[in-house]
Amino acid sequence: MNTFKALGLNDAILQAVTDMGFTEPSEVQEKAIPVLLREATDVVALAQTGTGKTAAFGFPLIQKVDANNRKTQGLIISPTRELCLQITNELKNYSKHVKGLNTVAVYGGANIQEQARQISRGAQIIVATPGRMQDMMRRNLVDISGIDFCVLDEADEMLNMGFYEDITTILADTPKGKQTWLFSATMPKEVARIAKQFMNNPIEITVGTKNMGAENVSHEYYMVNARDRYQALKRLADANPEIFSVVFCRTKRDTQKVAENLIEDGYNASALHGDLSQNQRDLVMKSFRARQIQMLVATDVAARGIDVDDITHVINYQLPDEIETYTHRSGRTGRAGKTGISMVIVSKSELRKIRTLEKIINKQFVQKDIPTGMEICEVQLMHLANDIRNTKINEEINPYLFSINEVLEGLSREEVIKKVFSVEFTRFFNYYQKTKDLNIAVKADLKEESGESTRYFINIGAKDDFDWMSLKDFLKETTGLGDGIYKVDCKDSFSFFNTDTEHKDAILALFEDFKLQGRQVHVEITKDTRGGGGKRKRNDRKSSGGGYGGGGRGRGRRNDSGGGGGRRSDSGDGFRGKSKGSGERRGKSKAEPKENKSPFSGKRRRRDR
Ligand code: AMP
Repeated sequence: MNTFKALGLNDAILQAVTDMGFTEPSEVQEKAIPVLLREATDVVALAQTGTGKTAAFGFPLIQKVDANNRKTQGLIISPTRELCLQITNELKNYSKHVKGLNTVAVYGGANIQEQARQISRGAQIIVATPGRMQDMMRRNLVDISGIDFCVLDEADEMLNMGFYEDITTILADTPKGKQTWLFSATMPKEVARIAKQFMNNPIEITVGTKNMGAENVSHEYYMVNARDRYQALKRLADANPEIFSVVFCRTKRDTQKVAENLIEDGYNASALHGDLSQNQRDLVMKSFRARQIQMLVATDVAARGIDVDDITHVINYQLPDEIETYTHRSGRTGRAGKTGISMVIVSKSELRKIRTLEKIINKQFVQKDIPTGMEICEVQLMHLANDIRNTKINEEINPYLFSINEVLEGLSREEVIKKVFSVEFTRFFNYYQKTKDLNIAVKADLKEESGESTRYFINIGAKDDFDWMSLKDFLKETTGLGDGIYKVDCKDSFSFFNTDTEHKDAILALFEDFKLQGRQVHVEITKDTRGGGGKRKRNDRKSSGGGYGGGGRGRGRRNDSGGGGGRRSDSGDGFRGKSKGSGERRGKSKAEPKENKSPFSGKRRRRDR
């Protein structure tokens, strides 16, 4: 076992190591500290947050700077305010027995004059975010022209956040002869470019394997129709009751909206994005760390500094614009030796991005189905059973046991269990029993594209007293195809449904001369499954009196939904019209009835109190 002493650290630092309770060096410390102490060299170290990398560069830096000289000798550049403060705190701890050594944090959102004052008192080490650092340089509030050491921390994240120009501007003001220590979790081209451009034959140190974050993370994708994205997100959360996750959206607006919807639906969620004040962001992060928030909905930029271990899932609600950003997102989970799952919700048109991602991360994605309502019910029930099993008995309950037994007298053990579980089960069973399978429609679409599935138009609908379920039953029975009838979408005076293409001739033949209560029923193949929503609605209205005949044989009428705004008739959600009980939210309207709340909301809140 290597010791900190053997790495060449001096007594002041060793004392701090003891104070902090570090017993042995981590891998990156073991590899980097002797090199950085002994050699006047540039170093590129590939190490993740959580590996002890701050001490790996912090200890040698503290040991090498001259505490008796007040001039700035070391500059650490880090991507975010949070990380900047964290590094500063760590360095202060490491150097608490080094007399006269000052470390000052320079970051945006705080009083710049105060930071300048602290520097003017003498700051041998400055820890800075790129934006504020440049600001201070422009105002001549800082002098880095004589530094001996420059640390670029989380270089890949800084470049990903678009700080390339800022870093080069800052480095241009530093002396050529300084040593540069670059720390990065990954080594994308841009980081290699920085290393080549600004460093002198750097020694490379690798901890574990390169991109090791990816090693502990499995990648899954879920394909749904774009309009079902939010429902899919909720189901992923419901199917993972212990979820502790970051949900990534592309824009601040989407981030806010998704978080609001989740909160409204009873989840422990919160938004994290740049429109929040620093204070608000700090509060959100505090709650997240304390696990009062289970789903942190964040933009990429705002999530940069998140240094929370134990995140079980990263959910890509939308894929990032810059596909490389995915590595950073997924790197939020699977930290500190834990495993994690990175989930991506994609629409059909985004499938090719998954293939591109596989090449970038050099790992395969597993395609998974969004759990059905009944699968979620089962997961939740088992979770409840385990919760009950693991609950520590509160002996304070003893005085009440007699009365409880009296109330329950006559019930068998089995009955008591059934009743206890029914309290929860009925609630989410009612919620989920009629919700649609989010995977079917998209699979049918894919089958349609490949010609394996055929979509039909039929001139009966809600005006004929059908809803999607009764129409499906009617079609199942009439055709004898059973579950071979799918994607039934019941409109006002007409509807759509699918079968596998092999049944096409039989279906058309069956409805060639078919009467329902004396009325001729027509079935035709419909090709265009998109667009034309506006036209469709007009035709729908026109033909509403007399069914198929009224609307003519125009293109619009045959078009399936998907385009046009206005009322959406979600095929198969079972809550058409006067909603029968609590269903998933059909639209995003705030006016959605209260019963659309998640059935788990009460439970989650209670558990958190
Ligand atoms: P970092 O990778 O620098 O963010 O460090 C992660 C955490 O590990 C910090 O809270 C450090 O204080 C702690 N740490 C660093 N080195 C060691 C060590 N050798 N033993 C135990 N904890 C450490």
